[in-house]
Amino acid sequence: MFTRCRVVGCDRPARAGTDDGLDTRFCRQHSDHYSRHGSPYKRSYTAKELAPYRKAALAWLEANAEDQWVRNAVDRVETLYRTAGPHIEAFRLRGLSPEGRAKAAWARLRKAKVDPRGVVAAWLAVEMIIRDDPQPETKIEFRRVQVSKLVHKMASGTHKRWEAGAGGPKELHVYPRSRGRVLRHLGRDLDEAVSLLSSKVGTLDVPVNLTD
Ligand SMILES: [Zn+2]
Repeated sequence: MFTRCRVVGCDRPARAGTDDGLDTRFCRQHSDHYSRHGSPYKRSYTAKELAPYRKAALAWLEANAEDQWVRNAVDRVETLYRTAGPHIEAFRLRGLSPEGRAKAAWARLRKAKVDPRGVVAAWLAVEMIIRDDPQPETKIEFRRVQVSKLVHKMASGTHKRWEAGAGGPKELHVYPRSRGRVLRHLGRDLDEAVSLLSSKVGTLDVPVNLTD
């Protein structure tokens, strides 16, 4: 006897318990989708879909830089950077817990000198695109994963080049994996940082130009 995947209309068996951190409520395909996108069936927003929202969010944050809620959110993202511990090279992340990898992502943002306003803008953009979506996935987890994918991408990977050695210079490019529990932890950290601004989000008037 096996359990069926929990996605409505999916007849495949749910995955057997494994230690890879993937969900066992769904079949392989749906658990993989869930790990990457924060929903077993709803796809992630594309960069193109998000672009006008990110642009509008950043412009609004810049125009309202002195607002106490905006300042609070930006300051608290800076605090996440500052308290994230030492920078860890992307190829040394293996073996770290999801919490540890989330901290490492904040430390990478610090090292790459990513403007904390861009991080707050990513959060606000996702809030707005879900609000405008005619068929939104309203679960917190989906929203957190969508934001975290953007934030994770802003933190660059590790790039090294060695001149010496036979066969010419060697290069190494390592990007941390953007899936799984690390995204949930990043999203939770950010939700806490923007919590005061978030409580006002329904009252914010952020004009989005979708015709560009
Ligand atoms: Zn399924």
